Amino acid sequence: MVTLIILASVVFIVFQFRTKMQDVYEAAGRATAPLRSAVLPFPAAYREILNKYFPYYQKLSAGNRHAFEQKLLYFILSKKWIPRQFDAVTDEMKVMISACAVQLTFGLPRIYLQHFIGIVIYPDNYYSSITKRFHKGEVNPAYHLIVLSWKSFVDGYLVNPTDAINVGLHELAHALRLENLIRNDEYQFFDEDLLNKFDAYAHRICHETDPQFLFFRPYACTNEHEFFSVAVENFFERPQAFKEALPQLYQVMTGLLNQDPLVITGEQK
Ligand SMILES: [Zn+2]
Repeated sequence: MVTLIILASVVFIVFQFRTKMQDVYEAAGRATAPLRSAVLPFPAAYREILNKYFPYYQKLSAGNRHAFEQKLLYFILSKKWIPRQFDAVTDEMKVMISACAVQLTFGLPRIYLQHFIGIVIYPDNYYSSITKRFHKGEVNPAYHLIVLSWKSFVDGYLVNPTDAINVGLHELAHALRLENLIRNDEYQFFDEDLLNKFDAYAHRICHETDPQFLFFRPYACTNEHEFFSVAVENFFERPQAFKEALPQLYQVMTGLLNQDPLVITGEQK
């Protein structure tokens, strides 16, 4: 009996130690992401995924495609990929979600959403016992997590890429705006005047426009965070229409994100 207890204790200690070592090893791996992404060749399989499914990348110049790949590799290596309700996160998931993050932050070279270490993926929309409803995605700064439903993420890019509904861009835009407020190496990267200008436009648009003539979907007017995320969805999915409907706001967005999707993708010189 005593031998059994000792044996069980040893097994338990070894297991704890292994789990701890694995965590340490993984954290060390993430910490070396800048170096590894600079020296490792970009995997051909990743490029194939981008060429198949990611039009933003496909429309970039050769030089920008290279910068995009490097930033994407950094993002993949610096995050902890956590599957929920299925076994393992695939390369396709990692590449597509990272490509979405790079699209959003392409004009902000030092931004990798560093506060958000974990990317949690569910195969489909998931039930939250807290809100008692199904979710497509959310951002949890307290736990350093971005959570996404893979089905909804894919719908955003593939089912209708120009309807300005894209849960990946939407949730990552929430993360980006929060990252700007969190005191770390990526703190306050947004130009404060531009951000104030953005919020003033949002307030004016939501309070002065008849909801039926609102260019954005009405959900944008929930608060300034939702307005920002919905604006990001429109900025990338229907930039030309956005620019025509709300030229001043579009201008502020190009300043905040330091890119103009119409120019960078060659759709407008
Ligand atoms: Zn939202």
